[in-house]
Amino acid sequence: MKEEVKNLKQEGINPGLAVVIVGDDPASRVYVNSKKKACEEIGIYSEEYALSAKTTQDELLELINMLNEKKDISGILVQLPLPEHIDEEIIINAINPKKDVDAFHPVNVGKIMFGNYDFVPCTPAGVMELIKESGIEVAGKECVIIGRSNIVGKPQAMLLLHENGTVTICHSKTKNLAETVKRADIVVAAVGKPEMITGDMIKEGAVVIDVGINRLENKKLVGDVHFESAEKVASAITPVPGGVGPMTIAMLMKNTVKAARINRES
Ligand code: NDP
Repeated sequence: MKEEVKNLKQEGINPGLAVVIVGDDPASRVYVNSKKKACEEIGIYSEEYALSAKTTQDELLELINMLNEKKDISGILVQLPLPEHIDEEIIINAINPKKDVDAFHPVNVGKIMFGNYDFVPCTPAGVMELIKESGIEVAGKECVIIGRSNIVGKPQAMLLLHENGTVTICHSKTKNLAETVKRADIVVAAVGKPEMITGDMIKEGAVVIDVGINRLENKKLVGDVHFESAEKVASAITPVPGGVGPMTIAMLMKNTVKAARINRES
C-alpha cells in the first residue's frame, strides 16, 4: 500500500481519510487510533473529528455534508456504534457513496450484491484477502458463516458466493449449529460470543477464520473460536488478536486509495 500511495502521489492524487468518532467508547477510540496510525504509516493524509456524545444528528449531518464536498478528503469513515439518539441509517445514507470507504451505503451494498463493486466492507474483504493470499481455493467449497450482520456476515456471504463457494449463513435461530459447522470446508465466525466454536464442531482439515473480538472479564482478548481445540483439527486458522483485525485496517487503506482514484476521475 505504501508503494501504491507513493505512485498515486506521483500522479498528483493525494488520498485523504476523514475519521469521525462521536462519544467516548473506549473500543471505538482504539479502532480510530489504529486507523490513523495506519494512514501515517503508508503516507495517507488523515483528519480526525472527535465529537462529544451530545452532538446532535443535525450537527453530524452538517459535518458529513462538509466532508462530502471537501476536496482533500477522498474517504469518510464514521466509527460505529453512534450514540442512541443518532440514527445510524440516516448518517450512513448521507455519506457520498464515492467516499464511503466502509461500503455501508445502500448504493455500495447493492453493488456488492451484483458483484460489481468499487468498495468492499473492510472486514469481509480482509477475510477474502487472507484466503487468497494463503492459496485457498473457494470454488465448490462448503462455506459456513456464523453471523448475519450487515457489516460482516451478509457481505461475507456474497463475497464467498462470488468466488463460487456454496454458502450457508447461520444465526441465533439456526437449529443444529454444530452439525452445520461440521460440514464446512471454510468456517467464518462473526458472532461476538467468546470461544463458542469449539474444535469438536470443526471438520478435519477445515479453514477457520475468526472475526470475533471479545474481551473477557480478565481483560484477555479472545475470538469466537476456541483456538486451542480448533487449531488441532483445522488446516489453517486465524488467531485473535492479530488475524482478521489488522486485515480490516489494511482493507480500509486499500478502499481509501481506491476512493482517491474514483474521486479524481469524477
Ligand atoms: P452483530 O452482533 O451485529 O451480529 C452477530 C451475529 O451473530 C448475529 O447475526 C446473530 O444472530 C449471530 N448470533 C448470535 N448468537 C448466536 C448463536 N448462539 N448462534 C449463532 N449465531 C448467533 O455482530 P458483528 O457482525 O458486528 O460482529 C461480530 C463479531 O465480530 C464481534 O465480536 C465483533 O466485535 C467482531 N468484529 C470484528 C471486526 C474486525 O475487524 N476483526 C470488525 C467487525 C466486527 P441474529 O441475527 O439472529 O441476532
